[in-house]
Amino acid sequence: MISTNRRALLDTPISEFIISSEKVAHVQVGNSAEHALLVLTKTGYSSVPVLDTKYRLHGLLSTKMITESILGLERIEYEKLANIKVDDVMDRGVTYLKITDTFQKALDLVINHAFLCVVDHEGTFVGILTRRVILKQLKKYIYSVD
Ligand code: AMP
Repeated sequence: MISTNRRALLDTPISEFIISSEKVAHVQVGNSAEHALLVLTKTGYSSVPVLDTKYRLHGLLSTKMITESILGLERIEYEKLANIKVDDVMDRGVTYLKITDTFQKALDLVINHAFLCVVDHEGTFVGILTRRVILKQLKKYIYSVD
């Protein structure tokens, strides 16, 4: 009985747990690093997805990536921010999930990632899956079995 429930959880499609794209803060390729820093600071998120106008996923951008790009030898060169583009500093090697992936795959990946971007069969960004959501589901499961 217990193992059946466990299998059911592991096989659950991640689509049930996604924070949908319209609720996800993002920046666009071509945006300046200055704009991106504003978005990151105001939302309080450590990193956000980088999308194009067709909502295709290009990478992830964090405050650290921006700060590192303006680190001079003795000072932070804030005046450079307006001339640096998101594309120049983002991480393109993003680990992502497909909408058809299961809870089991997400569980493996959230060990190393606070959140994962999710794309559909055409590569369009549909939302994110966070470690917090996965842990909540896991907690629910653990407390439900005796
Ligand atoms: P949380 O599970 O809320 O602690 O989120 C973990 C990380 O996921 C945050 O630091 C962000 O990088 C990302 N994140 C969570 N929710 C959002 C959102 N609505 N928009 C953009 N990024 C998000």
